[in-house]
Amino acid sequence: MFEYNAPNNLLENKIILVTGAGDGIGRAAALTYAAHGATVILVGKTTEKLENVYDEIEAAGGPKPAIVPLNLETATEHDYIDLTNILDNEFGHIDGLLHNASLLGVRTPIESYDPIIWQQVMQVNINAPFILTQTLMPLLHRSENASVIFTSSGVGRKGSAYWGAYSVSKFATEGFMQVMADEVENTANIRVNCINPGATRTKMRAYAYPGEQPENNPEPANIMPLYLYLMGHDSNDVNGQSLNAQ
Ligand code: NDP
Repeated sequence: MFEYNAPNNLLENKIILVTGAGDGIGRAAALTYAAHGATVILVGKTTEKLENVYDEIEAAGGPKPAIVPLNLETATEHDYIDLTNILDNEFGHIDGLLHNASLLGVRTPIESYDPIIWQQVMQVNINAPFILTQTLMPLLHRSENASVIFTSSGVGRKGSAYWGAYSVSKFATEGFMQVMADEVENTANIRVNCINPGATRTKMRAYAYPGEQPENNPEPANIMPLYLYLMGHDSNDVNGQSLNAQ
């Protein structure tokens, strides 16, 4: 497990957007960031799940979060512009962007991979993060120190049979991170990195590995040290890295 002891106030006064914040690792990241002082913008598909996370943050005494329902598969350019305008009016800038939401798609050979599912996976996992990042750039530039984090996977570093579009989208994620990190290398205020969470006890994991005992994998809350490290000031000089949470 990546080791990092975050002070309780690590993310005080920071505005952090998390995609897929209603469930799994994104939910844990949203709760953890709020517990360390951040105002979290909860973005995701199912509004009810986002509302539950909102309530949990409020009940724990965290800073008042914001909810933005957004389906990354169907969102249009206007939805992204609306989101950016809302955040601009409300906060004027953002300090963190965690691209966490992803679609697994199907586990099947390329020969029989449904092209429609292929497009859906690519849309959610790589096209949407591109548009979201691009539209939010002006707000990231206005942060003193902004951190953009992408979520990769083991199959985004080494291809593996039947992982299809998911694997290809994670290779693209690693590439996107490297391209952008190189572009911002000389910008003092933005850094871009990837997290590979490793096997973690979530719905996606259970679906991908139905034969596995879920108890053998850590819960999302247990893999948060790297998520905190990359969002906080101790990683201000870290750019273009792909790191393992476990
Ligand atoms: P889950 O399936 O548990 O959660 C995925 C989240 O993404 C959900 O909140 C879901 O929202 C959201 N999401 C899915 N589709 C959309 C969409 N179209 N628009 C908006 N939000 C959407 O996955 P994990 O928590 O396991 O995965 C989180 C990240 O970690 C992913 O990027 C995954 O690839 C990566 N990862 C996970 C591993 C693991 O072992 N768990 C291992 C390696 C990488 P909703 O619930 O509303 O559908």
